Amino acid sequence: MHELSIAQSIFETVLLEKKKKNLSDIQFIGLKIGAMSGILADSLEFSFDAIKIDTELSETALAIELIPLKGRCKVCQHNFQVDDYAFFCPQCESGQIEIEQGMDMEIAYLEVES
Ligand SMILES: [Zn+2]
Repeated sequence: MHELSIAQSIFETVLLEKKKKNLSDIQFIGLKIGAMSGILADSLEFSFDAIKIDTELSETALAIELIPLKGRCKVCQHNFQVDDYAFFCPQCESGQIEIEQGMDMEIAYLEVES
């Protein structure tokens, strides 16, 4: 199960950060998940909730933001959102495009209880 190992790695990264910076209780972990990252937000949340039980992060929740897939045309430099896996430029119809966002996942921020 893909999401379980990702949840595990988020958990370990955040726990390490918490110790390193001596943070108090973390309320939210802000995550940016790309539309094409292949990560299912629901199962990631489910996995994380299972892992955090009886740990220092038991009160921590994921705040997930889905990032749309965006590309740039190498021919006319047009920036656009890729819908329905249509990997060509809507302006000049070139297939030479570069994906700029939406392929991966990152931890954007940690929200600490004040
Ligand atoms: Zn173009």
